[in-house]
Amino acid sequence: MGIVVQKFGGTSLADSEKIKNVARAVIKEKENGNNVITIVSAMGHTTDFLIKLSEEVSNVPSAREMDMLLSTGEQVSASLLAMAIEEMGHPAISLNAWQVGIETEPEYSNARIIDIKTERLNKHLEEGKIIIITGFQGIANGDITTLGRGGSDTSAVAVAVAVKANRCDIYTDVEGVYTSDPRIVPNALPLKEISYEEMFELAHVGANVLHPRSVETAREFEMPMRVRSSFKLDNLGTLIIGVDKMEVTKPVTGVARDNSQVRVVICDVEDKPGNASKLFNLLAANNLSVDMIIQSYARSSNNTNDIAFTIASENLNRFKAHEEEIKSILNLSNIFIDENISKISIVGSGMIDRPGIAAGMFQSLAKAGINIKMIATSEIKISCLVDREDSEKAVVELCRHFELDGLEVAEVRGNLPSDVL
Ligand code: ADP
Ligand code: ASP
Ligand code: MG
Repeated sequence: MGIVVQKFGGTSLADSEKIKNVARAVIKEKENGNNVITIVSAMGHTTDFLIKLSEEVSNVPSAREMDMLLSTGEQVSASLLAMAIEEMGHPAISLNAWQVGIETEPEYSNARIIDIKTERLNKHLEEGKIIIITGFQGIANGDITTLGRGGSDTSAVAVAVAVKANRCDIYTDVEGVYTSDPRIVPNALPLKEISYEEMFELAHVGANVLHPRSVETAREFEMPMRVRSSFKLDNLGTLIIGVDKMEVTKPVTGVARDNSQVRVVICDVEDKPGNASKLFNLLAANNLSVDMIIQSYARSSNNTNDIAFTIASENLNRFKAHEEEIKSILNLSNIFIDENISKISIVGSGMIDRPGIAAGMFQSLAKAGINIKMIATSEIKISCLVDREDSEKAVVELCRHFELDGLEVAEVRGNLPSDVL
């Protein structure tokens, strides 16, 4: 008997009727003759609600207490789902991270899984039980850790790898991976398959349909992974596979938007060896990750450069705490921060060695009157920073330019109201 690992996201578990719907989907997989392990997210917008509560009692909540708090959401949905499955006549058991033994690095809010014990999982599967596991959480040094927003996808793939599952199915509120977020581009095209490499890049640059680390883990262990709808169980959704198995046709596979960064511009940095190193060492020493970086051409009049880079907006307050130190080590007076930006990226294995893709992206943005503030490229990705108010238009235009949209409108389940718990 093979093992199938499934994961259901918050929208799919938003109320008791939806939990019963998920219970039926889990039982259907079991009745197909598979052993089933199901990973769950918190119900609806529970995690956002818990974050809001923490902000009401503390300006700077401790990372340890945040993980204690946020991990509770998944325990609610796991136990309710186990109850619903038992009610339908199938033995089930819910387990949280310490009951399974999901060990992570000792880092709060963005921990990496390092080991998953399988003894208890195998025992319950042999007993014929369906196992429900809380996603998003782990343990380190006797404390609860969480894996970062959207991290239940990674819990699912890591469990699938640990128990040597046949496959890992990520059930969500859309019918699979589309060429772009169907909430921005209503006629985005559903993808039958996408390579691990492209999916990783897309998730990394803002396609939040999957947690990037889940794709990284699936690629490393060649775990077959599907993204599919929890509301249309017969639809197989999108298969994520190795690039060697794919037939690349279009140069660009998908377009994504990331609204989670801010741009910092450091003006008039003296053009001499060591200044960039001083700046980025200071940022690294304070655990401030940098994404895009541009250094301007040194002007001969005053021999200075401007250095611009982006950081995560959630790190902005931590960056601001070091602004004066940066000014003093670089001997300058001005740092500008621009919060009103979005990063727009095109991703595709088909762009390798194909000239004109970047030119096509810039031309399409120019035609739409959209100004580009920064550019970054890698082998299968080109990103442009634009003003946030232009971002939706940019995504729509790029989908049109690279033939990633169609005539039909994708079916998208509406987001639930924030009071759904
Ligand atoms: P879940 O609660 O199931 O984990 P998420 O909200 O994390 O769901 O992810 C699903 C959402 O991802 C979709 O509702 C969609 O708006 C968004 N999304 C962003 N980019 C894409 C894409 N390329 N394809 C499909 N969905 C996408
Ligand atoms: N509940 C967590 C979140 O909202 C984890 C997840 O949904 O994957 O980010
Ligand atoms: Mg998610």
